[in-house]
Amino acid sequence: MAIYNASELFSENVFTDAVMQKLLSKQVYEHLKAIRDNVAAWNDDVADEVANAMRVWAMERGATHYTHWFTPMTGMSAGKHDAFLSDVVDGKPLFKFSGNTLTKGESDASSLPSGGLRETFEARGYTAWDPTSPAFIIGETLYIPTAFCSYNGEALDQKTPLLRSMQAVGKQAVALLHKLGMSDVKTVYPTVGAEQEYFLIDREFSNERLDMQICGRTLFGAKPPKGQELGDHYYGRIRTRVISFMEELDKTLWSLGIPSKTRHNETAPAQYEVAAIFSTVNIACDHNQLLMQVIRPIARKHGFYCLLHEKPFEGINGSGKHNNWSLVTDTGVNLFNPSDNPENNLRFLLFVAAVIRAVDKFGDLIRLSASSAGNDLRLGGNEAPPSVISIFLGDHLSSIFQAISDGAPLHSIDRSHLMTGVKTLPLLELDDCDRNRTSPFAFTGNKFEFRMVGSSQSIGFPNTVLDTVVADSLEYINGKLNNSTDIETDAKSVIAEIYQKHGRVVFNGNNYSDEWKKEAERRGLKSYPTTREAVETLLERKNIELFEHQQVLSEVECVARHEILLNNYVNVVSIEAGTMLEMLHRQILPACISYCGSIADSNNSLISAGHASKAASQSLAELVSTVDGIYDSSDELENAFHRLSDDSSVSEKSAMCAEILALMSKVRGYCDAAEHLVSSKVWPLPNYMELLYKQ
Ligand code: ADP
Ligand code: MG
Repeated sequence: MAIYNASELFSENVFTDAVMQKLLSKQVYEHLKAIRDNVAAWNDDVADEVANAMRVWAMERGATHYTHWFTPMTGMSAGKHDAFLSDVVDGKPLFKFSGNTLTKGESDASSLPSGGLRETFEARGYTAWDPTSPAFIIGETLYIPTAFCSYNGEALDQKTPLLRSMQAVGKQAVALLHKLGMSDVKTVYPTVGAEQEYFLIDREFSNERLDMQICGRTLFGAKPPKGQELGDHYYGRIRTRVISFMEELDKTLWSLGIPSKTRHNETAPAQYEVAAIFSTVNIACDHNQLLMQVIRPIARKHGFYCLLHEKPFEGINGSGKHNNWSLVTDTGVNLFNPSDNPENNLRFLLFVAAVIRAVDKFGDLIRLSASSAGNDLRLGGNEAPPSVISIFLGDHLSSIFQAISDGAPLHSIDRSHLMTGVKTLPLLELDDCDRNRTSPFAFTGNKFEFRMVGSSQSIGFPNTVLDTVVADSLEYINGKLNNSTDIETDAKSVIAEIYQKHGRVVFNGNNYSDEWKKEAERRGLKSYPTTREAVETLLERKNIELFEHQQVLSEVECVARHEILLNNYVNVVSIEAGTMLEMLHRQILPACISYCGSIADSNNSLISAGHASKAASQSLAELVSTVDGIYDSSDELENAFHRLSDDSSVSEKSAMCAEILALMSKVRGYCDAAEHLVSSKVWPLPNYMELLYKQ
């Protein structure tokens, strides 16, 4: 086994702060650092020196090309590669990378989604270097994280609004902290730790399945005799081939400066998780984007197909991306750390109150931020948060808020210890709250865990929304505390007022239960069952006003995003329906019909031989009726699919998606029943047992 030095490996392919300090003049380094720390404005003068240092550093490591790397609204990272080669003189190559090329890229990517912001005749778009996220090398290319905007400065990506939202929430948080006497704080950053779930399937099988290759999920597949009911996969022994994949993944992540920390088997068979240590949200977002980019080729090297889809298999858990979110000051204080006596920690209570108000007022946007056709299949199953947004605080914290809101005295609660009943085991101090795995938005001790986010999604938009809605609440609180002469009394009264008005969004029970659905309705909390309903919230006046006021998205950008989300939804459903029809016509129906023929032949032979077989004749009857069911329902699907392809508008198309999805599920029902009836030798697709257990 090759031994490697973990501390040398970490960030070995990153243009880190330490590298910059070494390669840049003191003056340029200091200026760049000030820009990154938000205390100096952009200055073109630093760019040339930084660019040259980047090129020299990258070329010493074998890089020949660079790319402005960005995340368009597809949610997947993108970029074109250009060589450092600038000219050839007398047969000799000249290499150059100027400040201009580092800071600004022009892209004619009119094929990327823009929601009408960039018609092809005004296709010019720009990528702008984000100096807060370090450049890195993959293979022979230097990747430069960039924001992507239209000619008029409208955001066409995930990063630009995220950076704007960081500013918005930072500004309000700092203002509140100053009121509370923390005048040394200059900046507050949202921090995020993303837990990424995924599936690994043997490529031998995934190669045989068009649905997995095109849609990233199975459109057919009978339930296997064993799913996840024994709970034997979660945290279980990691199989040899899987651990060797994970080791390579972690080394790659570390070399890219991604602080990957945790790896384990997840609940469903063939499901896994990788989680990195939290960082400021912009970096966490780039890191997660990068993780999604590198995980697939590494899986391929190990003979696996990696699925990031939210619901690749029916009947077992899907994959999410738990988004752990907090606010931290530049002086290192986590504003959601309750400390030993949360009841006396006004700062903590104010910040939590801000979140409660934000989640109640803008639950619709939070729901929207985790919406996609893929996640629709996951949310609301008894495995993932339902489509009603609520917040879990735990009993202790809820009782503090209740007491403040009732004007009742506050009692501190002794921290309890874990009683194991075994004298030799250490005494463990319990956390302030238990975990609630069913809540979409749970306070987990010193941060909030937004559990709805889908596994294939960029965390850019969910965090843009979280930052923005909390910025709104903090601004509200700031307004209430302006000119306050008695901060303690006034802070308590704003906390009380917020809890009275918005406490309805707090729910500590089981979010999967039917009672909660009724209770949520009684409390007036809205449910957005699918993306189609959720997406409309982006056009609601209160939400457009929020984004405009916080300077995160303009109305035009909201409208564009609405269109992109809807278009994407329709396209995904349409591609899935098309793939299903293709598989039906070219694989499943031919196999079923030919198998019916062979049973019919056997049946006839047996009858001729004077041994009429009940098994043969009944199997034939059952099979023929199931196959007719496939045929009839696929005919219905085909008709609906053709209507979807007509010239109708995107909103008309999205309205038809519900019908298409219902028909797809009907077709699947017949096909999965047929899979149980047809010989495994003849069934044209690898089955769930092979996909989930052969690793
Ligand atoms: P779980 O048990 O839910 O899998 P962990 O406790 O392992 O979760 O941590 C989940 C994630 O939360 C990790 O990525 C961790 O770095 C992150 N995290 C911890 N503290 C913070 C914080 N203050 N802000 C944001 N994320 C945090
Ligand atoms: Mg978690």
